[in-house]
Amino acid sequence: MNPVFSSLPTTVFEVMSSLSRELGAINLGQGFPDEAGPADIRAKAAEATLHGYNQYPSMMGIPALREAVAGHYARHQGLDLDPVTEVIVTSGATEALAASLLGLIEPGDEVVLFAPLYDAYLPLVRLAGGIPRIVRLRPPAFRLAEADLADAFNARTRVVVLNNPLNPSATMLPEEDLALLARYCERFDVTAVCDEVWEHVVFDGARHVPLMALPGMRGRTVKIGSAGKIFSLTGWKVGFVMADARLMRVIAKAHQFLCFTTPPNLQEAVAYGLAKEDAYFTGMRAGYARSRDRLSEGLRAIGLDVLPSQATWFVNVDIARLGLGEDAAFCDRLIREHGVAAIPVSAFYPDAAVRSLVRLCFCKSDATLDAGLERIAAFV
Ligand code: PMP
Ligand code: GLN
Repeated sequence: MNPVFSSLPTTVFEVMSSLSRELGAINLGQGFPDEAGPADIRAKAAEATLHGYNQYPSMMGIPALREAVAGHYARHQGLDLDPVTEVIVTSGATEALAASLLGLIEPGDEVVLFAPLYDAYLPLVRLAGGIPRIVRLRPPAFRLAEADLADAFNARTRVVVLNNPLNPSATMLPEEDLALLARYCERFDVTAVCDEVWEHVVFDGARHVPLMALPGMRGRTVKIGSAGKIFSLTGWKVGFVMADARLMRVIAKAHQFLCFTTPPNLQEAVAYGLAKEDAYFTGMRAGYARSRDRLSEGLRAIGLDVLPSQATWFVNVDIARLGLGEDAAFCDRLIREHGVAAIPVSAFYPDAAVRSLVRLCFCKSDATLDAGLERIAAFV
């Protein structure tokens, strides 16, 4: 058996969601909206299923979607991507990450990662034979520090994995930090795999800056996006990889034996969605910002220390003052005794270095958020 997997626990998202189903809890753990997603995009998928092409599409993705991806990122982020050589469609960002990391890492390469880290990264780096060098980002700001980069990067560093906006901290790196990272990538000739699935879910007028757009980064950045987050359709698992043709060739080779392709009906619908007017994106953000505020204000009213949420579907509370134990124990009691699922942030730190934060998901109806708040109030 492969030790990368045989030694792994089941992902915290699955553990919490299955426990939540078993106990009939309110699930504010795993990030998924409790709405069905945009009706017009779902109607497109239905139409494509009934009347469209449902056999294997091209392994790189249907041309309409690759063109829509290039058009979308030109319009929203000023990127200039060739849809034929610089865009592929994957089965979610998870497969995009797998194809990128397996394609780019040579056994023995050092790979810099930032904790808190999304739980797929480390096993994929290990599977590829990479040697992880983990830089710890600390609450509440989760900023990059030059001294840490200077420690982590060296002549053996080949890849850095960045998640921005960052799940679970709900923070965005300021451009100054991106520029710092870009300088290190250039100095050590490193490729950046940039997981930007939360790029559209940003609040308070913030604008996402893709690392790829920084000087010197166009040819050394792999940008990953997900329709699951852009359209609140997490079950669809339609993702994209964008990179220059030199990097894309090897990523496509990995992709061909991971999934080969992604359902064409869903690709059609996502292509339609990516061309939506700006009003969709501003409306989506405004709706989630309202839910963020409702949950954050409710948690503050209970007396909890709530960290600011600049992006994503999550808000974090610092439970250090409560005297109710560390995050994992707190979440265990919260779900078993009070019927609310949440995610302990220590699960995102391989050494469990930060143990006082609990992540709550706010992309739920007002009634669900209010019911969750009532139960949390009864606990704390
Ligand atoms: N990366 C990050 C940072 C995520 O938060 C998620 C899911 N929430 C993913 C990747 C996976 O995206 P997908 O469902 O498209 O595979
Ligand atoms: N990314 C989602 C979250 O952070 C979960 C995705 C998954 O369950 N794999 O909650």
